[in-house]
Amino acid sequence: MILRKQTRKIHVGGLAVGGNSPISVQSMTNTDTRDVATTLNQIERLQDAGCDIVRVAVLDQDAAIAIREIRENILIPLIADIHFDYRLAVAAMENGAQGIRINPGNLGGPEKLARVVDAAKAHKVPIRVGVNSGSIEKDLLKEHGYPSQEKPTALIESALRNVRLLEEQGFEEIKISIKSSDTLTTISGYQQLSKLTDYPLHLGVTEAGGLIAGTVKSSVALGILLHQGIGDTFRISLTRDPVEEIRVGFELLRSLKIRERGPELISCPTCGRTQIDLFSIAEEVERYVQTMEKQIKVAVMGCVVNGPGEAKEADIGLAGGNGVGIIFKKGKLYKKVKEDDLLETFLEELKKIEQA
Ligand code: SF4
Repeated sequence: MILRKQTRKIHVGGLAVGGNSPISVQSMTNTDTRDVATTLNQIERLQDAGCDIVRVAVLDQDAAIAIREIRENILIPLIADIHFDYRLAVAAMENGAQGIRINPGNLGGPEKLARVVDAAKAHKVPIRVGVNSGSIEKDLLKEHGYPSQEKPTALIESALRNVRLLEEQGFEEIKISIKSSDTLTTISGYQQLSKLTDYPLHLGVTEAGGLIAGTVKSSVALGILLHQGIGDTFRISLTRDPVEEIRVGFELLRSLKIRERGPELISCPTCGRTQIDLFSIAEEVERYVQTMEKQIKVAVMGCVVNGPGEAKEADIGLAGGNGVGIIFKKGKLYKKVKEDDLLETFLEELKKIEQA
């Protein structure tokens, strides 16, 4: 049982983050925000995959203005990601952004920050102080050195300094992230930060890499932190279609038994007993179960000899044989079909379960 560190609760649009609210899974679009149609298309795909919060980059006034139309056409809270220009932050909020990610120290002084804070208060918008290893102030790097597993201090001090700037303006609707591309620095950094603040924490490993490297790095760092009760929301960063970030995010939460979404798919690695093209069958089944909502366990196994036994706990499964395939439920034979009909029959059974 995971004992979650108690943090304050803030709201991003209608979604609560922190406190006892469910850990939310975020992603960020990689489209040009000014291209509303393409951005909307990507956000719809993210929504379908279960994304709780989406972030878009705001590089200029046109992108800030585009937020209005994007917001009107999506169902999940929208966060604007802004660097340096306070006018973009203000414009993004005026156009409906429900959260912003900025570094208060980068905005050009207290007066400009005050304008951002005034807008955030007026529009009830929380601010994420998002510090990356690459964005740490020079004096902190000089004092504490580049953040490392042994000493992530510069990251933490940078975040807390930015938080203080907001607090001095009477603003406390804050989330914090301190991202490093190094797994171990991420872990020790968040562990230490979590002892120093009760603001909700947004977890992530930055520039984590492609599908495999990024998934492994993020899962190790975030898996350890979440298991220790640290973290209220997160993004898995992948050099990939952002929809994959959401899929990985939910698998991570599922593996820690924190949150489930849709069916769990288990499949055998195949071995010398496999006599069917299990990889393509598993791929088709995986594609289908991603559209399902029911929280069942689905198994795709290579052989009739061991498959059903190995996947006894599955609600429904298939196993390939020589010329025939079987569909089993809880390890017991349910239907025997010609191998050529196996996939189609199985997908029909899944459909029945989803509609039941
Ligand atoms: S289910 Fe059958 S084919 Fe798959 S790994 Fe086990 S023994 Fe091999």
